[in-house]
Amino acid sequence: MNPASISALPDQKLGERSLPAVSIKYDNVAYTVLLDPSTKLPAVVRTRDNDFVYGDVNFDVVLSDWKDMGGYKRATTQSWRLDGREVQRVTVKEVALDAPLPANILAVSADVKAKAKTAASDAPYQWVLRRMFLGRLMDSDKVYYPESGGFKLVELAPNVQHVQGGSANNLIVAMKDSIVIIDAPVDEGQSKWVIDAAKAKYPGKPIKQLVMTHHHMDHSGGSRAYVAEGAEVVMPAQSRPFFEAMFMAPHTVSPDALAKQPRPARIVEVKDTMTIKDDTVEIRLMNIPNPHVDGMLIAHVAQPNLVWVTDLISPRGAISRSPATIAVGAALTKAGINGSTIVGGHGTTAKQTDIAATLSN
Ligand SMILES: [Zn+2]
Repeated sequence: MNPASISALPDQKLGERSLPAVSIKYDNVAYTVLLDPSTKLPAVVRTRDNDFVYGDVNFDVVLSDWKDMGGYKRATTQSWRLDGREVQRVTVKEVALDAPLPANILAVSADVKAKAKTAASDAPYQWVLRRMFLGRLMDSDKVYYPESGGFKLVELAPNVQHVQGGSANNLIVAMKDSIVIIDAPVDEGQSKWVIDAAKAKYPGKPIKQLVMTHHHMDHSGGSRAYVAEGAEVVMPAQSRPFFEAMFMAPHTVSPDALAKQPRPARIVEVKDTMTIKDDTVEIRLMNIPNPHVDGMLIAHVAQPNLVWVTDLISPRGAISRSPATIAVGAALTKAGINGSTIVGGHGTTAKQTDIAATLSN
């Protein structure tokens, strides 16, 4: 370590505590190291990071429970925190020093080397980490879908396209003079693909509304791109604080489209029901009680009789009856919807009649 790479910083905060700190530059990254004055040991190693939901955030590894192990002091508790939220915790129980290792343990295989040449230059790795914690890691540099995959438009009606192929889907509905998009999964990258595909499919129509079924990040991470596009965002009333914070968050570490072209977000709340309608299309939005999240919209595209449902029903093979499917069934009954096609925020589609047993109370 070059001593010139180390410089003093003002005290830095860890929660409510203020700790002495230094900056260490290494390999083009500036690390902020917070020190514990009582032990004189590092307490936090911090980087500033971009998060598509929270914007500029601290990404910390918080070190504690230092013990002598094999002649060295080690932090046996290591807590990774994104914006103060713990996302990973490691407890070191045993350390073996100078244990013999196979000579090829760090060898990189030819197929990995070949893939590295085409790897995404700007992978949103917070999403990759989150997917790991969700237990849904895809070992793919394509981020949104497996290595051999891709997005595709599946036509459900001449004016309705289902964006499939990713880990979560969008719906594109062409109105007479504009386009409505439902859900904004993952991040700006998927949103850009969908915006381009919608405009290519329905030329000359601006994207006027983004409908968010709910705030969970796997469906909302790309919503800032639609604000940048000029769309108003329609959402369950309960989601408003989440989206207001997300749309206001500074993104200076890695500016996205909204950071580059700031504009105020126009939010429309749905407390109970709302209809988006013109001469050609009617979309009925319903904020329904359900066991998944406080604040969930389902959307009925009336003429082709399609019902967009995210997370409560995910058509991917057999669907089993659950409190979530029963909640959708109750909403369909209340709205008088029969013989519809359920269109998934994950997976594909299912006929209401084929899954009637899972919907009934
Ligand atoms: Zn969800």
